[in-house]
Amino acid sequence: MTTRRLVIFDLDETLVHATETKLSYEPDFVVEPYFVYLRPYVHELLSFTANRFDVAVWSSSSTKYVMEVTKQIFGEKYPLKFAWSVEKCVQKVDTKTNGYVYIKDLRKVQSQGYIVENITIVDDSPEKIVRQPRNHLLVKSYQGECDDVGLIAVRETLETLSLL
Ligand SMILES: [Mg+2]
Repeated sequence: MTTRRLVIFDLDETLVHATETKLSYEPDFVVEPYFVYLRPYVHELLSFTANRFDVAVWSSSSTKYVMEVTKQIFGEKYPLKFAWSVEKCVQKVDTKTNGYVYIKDLRKVQSQGYIVENITIVDDSPEKIVRQPRNHLLVKSYQGECDDVGLIAVRETLETLSLL
């Protein structure tokens, strides 16, 4: 077990917006069949977290998508402890919609050597972090807005954590 804090980033609507229909401006990259738009201030945030925390990714998208998107965003520059996809999520029926919700149960991360108390997950979907709400740093859902400042708020909150 390590005492370092682990920051886990969700991908869709947290760090990127991926859409099959192109927006009114050019995407940052393409992962077929999606046009992918990086959220403003994503690189500022990642260079900040790389210096202070262990960093990982956990998305409820497919493994192939997660691998391609993380390669584009993090590359060699920002090493990741792991990049998990839907396969590590717990699938539950959402009684409100009768659809499925994919829960990210942070107890699974203990196998990577982190205690749950030292984990912060940055995610736009509270329903996915329902088992450990105290470890959830909620970020507003990003839909491709050019003037979005959600990641600035995330950085400020993480800055407070890094001082603890
Ligand atoms: Mg999301």
